[in-house]
Amino acid sequence: MTQRDEGYIPQQRHPPSDVDRWLASIWNPTKLDPEYGECPDCGRKEIEFRVWRLRDGTIKKYKDCPDCIAKHDAEREAEEKAERSADMPRRRRSARIGTGIPPRFMQKDFSNFDRGRSKEIDVAFDLCWQYAEEYPIGKKVEGYRSLYIYSEQSWGVGKTHLSCAIAHRILDRWQDIDTACPRVRWVSEPQLFSKIEASFNYTWEDKQILPNKDDIINDLINTDLLILDDVGKEKRQDPRFVQRTLFAIINGRYDRDYPMVITANLSPSLLKGHLGAGGTDEASYDRILEMTERQRIVMDGQSYRRYSEGT
Ligand SMILES: [Zn+2]
Repeated sequence: MTQRDEGYIPQQRHPPSDVDRWLASIWNPTKLDPEYGECPDCGRKEIEFRVWRLRDGTIKKYKDCPDCIAKHDAEREAEEKAERSADMPRRRRSARIGTGIPPRFMQKDFSNFDRGRSKEIDVAFDLCWQYAEEYPIGKKVEGYRSLYIYSEQSWGVGKTHLSCAIAHRILDRWQDIDTACPRVRWVSEPQLFSKIEASFNYTWEDKQILPNKDDIINDLINTDLLILDDVGKEKRQDPRFVQRTLFAIINGRYDRDYPMVITANLSPSLLKGHLGAGGTDEASYDRILEMTERQRIVMDGQSYRRYSEGT
């Protein structure tokens, strides 16, 4: 091993070389009195110049112009932001997957909704579009309105398509990287209960990493916007369990004043049966009615009505 490898520094040679003189000229400069004058770059008057005399007598002046510094900082910030924003498409894509929208509905947005079938469906389209357009991004969601979209007889009028379109449009409107990404969850009632039921059969290892029933429910309570699709679609074996679970979610969001979009093939009076009302336990039903007071959309192939009063 050579001496150089061990960090050996050769002794300074005498007399000093040109390099030594040059280094000395940079080191130990002398600070002189500041000068004042106009900024050569932006023309601002009376700015300060810091003046230094180097060892070899050279005078160096450094301007201290607040305008130029601010301009430079702003440019740098814009550059950094542009770099961060280049990551937006990837982040938006993962937010879309994070909503829980199934792959077959990933492409279902407002642009490919089949309009013009009836004036009624077009009105529902407009209300859903407006809902997504006015949804608060980067602001508090508390107090934003909820929607209840239902059709009484017709199936396949496009409620699910519209509910997915709302989620897609809200994520499309998220354009500023420095604004928090809207947290939107989409789940259909059958999907929700199969997910919860599956969690009951987890192995010990599964339970360590996969969400349990409470995690699933808490996620749906605490997300900014919950879209609950196809409420009441399937009759389940244990209606009390369905009712308790839906109550936990609906009531949790009601308490936090968080918005919900609900789609169903149930009129409000049939929804009441599904949610277990009829006895003393009408809370979920009342919550939904209260949350969607002015936003209940009936969407039928032939007929469309918008209720602004209760049922
Ligand atoms: Zn300047």
